[in-house]
Amino acid sequence: MPDLQGDIIIVGAGVVGLGVALEITRRFPRRRLLILDKEDGVAQHQSGHNSGVIHSGIYYKPGSLKARLCVAGAAAMLDFCRNHDVPYKISGKVIVATKAEEVPRLEALCKRGESNGLTGLRLIGAEELRDFEPHAAALKALVVPSTGVTDYALVCQKYAELIVANGGNLLVSTEVRDIKRTVDQVVVETPRGAYSAALLINCAGLYSDRICRMAGDQPGAMIVPFRGEYYDLVPERASLVRALIYPVPDPQFPFLGVHFTRRISAKVDAGPNAVLALAREGYHHSDISLHDLATSVTFRGFWKMAGRHWRNGFAEYYRSFSKPAFVRALQQMLPEIREKDLTPGVSGVRAQALKPDGTLVDDFQFVPSGKILHVLNVPSPAATASLMIGKAIVDIAITHLGLC
Ligand SMILES: Cc1cc2nc3c(=O)[nH]c(=O)nc-3n(C[C@H](O)[C@H](O)[C@H](O)COP(=O)(O)OP(=O)(O)OC[C@H]3O[C@@H](n4cnc5c(N)ncnc54)[C@H](O)[C@@H]3O)c2cc1C
Repeated sequence: MPDLQGDIIIVGAGVVGLGVALEITRRFPRRRLLILDKEDGVAQHQSGHNSGVIHSGIYYKPGSLKARLCVAGAAAMLDFCRNHDVPYKISGKVIVATKAEEVPRLEALCKRGESNGLTGLRLIGAEELRDFEPHAAALKALVVPSTGVTDYALVCQKYAELIVANGGNLLVSTEVRDIKRTVDQVVVETPRGAYSAALLINCAGLYSDRICRMAGDQPGAMIVPFRGEYYDLVPERASLVRALIYPVPDPQFPFLGVHFTRRISAKVDAGPNAVLALAREGYHHSDISLHDLATSVTFRGFWKMAGRHWRNGFAEYYRSFSKPAFVRALQQMLPEIREKDLTPGVSGVRAQALKPDGTLVDDFQFVPSGKILHVLNVPSPAATASLMIGKAIVDIAITHLGLC
């Protein structure tokens, strides 16, 4: 007999699990909701280790979930921050093309942003760029005025406060170790006891594919951990960056490229790169999990990805170990930056789903299976979009899981 019964269990108290939980407590206030997380607080992984950017939605394929949920999610995030006293700033950003071959991609990005409904986008030349970012270099730049910054760890704390105030139960230090399905219940085993509910929503981030397997389902993709490392600008040189300076992204990758971010705290950092981590929660070079490594190297798609992207992968590793190489990459956008201007900063690990054919899953992926819904790919801009992801997932749970 389970120790505690509820109507709905959510695994994972990151920004996505909490976004879903908040939406459930608002739309179904009578449902008994349990949120389980293995850590001793909310936002201990991706949601507390990111760039803090409220993305505008410029990058994503028109019509994709990322595009729709990011554009609407950014507006919802700004409203949320305003209404709940979470610090935020609409600082705007510039995307800079520093090589001739990047200019057509920058122009295409501008068109894509307009297709996604963004307003105020403007292509400018090197002269005008100085009005926005006096120290940046570019052949051409794109001004994105609606981009903002916040602190997603604070956003998560506020989500959690509201969820608990609305009657939800948040159980931390409660790791899900096994999942069983009975005729009408899903039973979750944890070291603190068993919990059961009619429905379960898997928002376990870096472990979402494993939770999916625990529930007897096939995720159809494997989560690959990509570490993103940051450097901090020393305070005396933080004035080199007014707001946010981004490169033109490489269309082969779902990552945006190393950029400069003036955070909500006013601290400026450079990063994150994207290095294959040797453990799912591998925040440092020395973090190695043989189990995680074995899972990766025995997955067909891993070698196909490696075969396709080995050159880029090595370049990322090189920059990860060599500060001069990292700085050289940054100098393309900010020629005045020097090695002594940067000190090692924090890092985060992205959960990126990889298909057996070696392609990285681009869009968000939500997969219902019986009374369980698996959230299998929610990389950036999922923090920005979290309120809208919450709505989309609750809609799916109503239609496919019978949530009522
Ligand atoms: C370096 C970096 C920079 C980024 N920058 C941005 C940005 O600027 N803007 C933006 O919008 N997005 C950004 N993102 C993306 C964004 O942070 C993530 O998409 C988002 O946080 C994902 O949230 P999540 O809830 O799915 O995952 P997580 O925050 O990782 O939460 C998953 C939770 O599941 C828990 N869990 C896992 N396994 C179990 C288990 N067995 N039992 C119980 N609990 C479990 C974990 O403890 C964790 O708390 C960035 C991400 C990274 C890593």
